[in-house]
Amino acid sequence: MSINRGEPMPSYLITCPSCNTENRVAADKEGMSGRCGTCHAKLPALHIQPVPLTEHTFDNFVRNYDAPILAEFWAPW
Ligand SMILES: [Zn+2]
Repeated sequence: MSINRGEPMPSYLITCPSCNTENRVAADKEGMSGRCGTCHAKLPALHIQPVPLTEHTFDNFVRNYDAPILAEFWAPW
């Protein structure tokens, strides 16, 4: 097993809804809202990785999320 020392932290590009600048967001800041580096507008708090939701958290998450959502539903039976 090799460890990639010196590898940059994974990051995502989030396009500013105000000025269309692409802002690099570190993977550990995923889901947190930030500010555009160019115009300082608020960036949407986007998730790249799946977010587990339950019947108690689903409605609130969907209501407050600023981007399209891909949902996969499953039940244990
Ligand atoms: Zn901007």
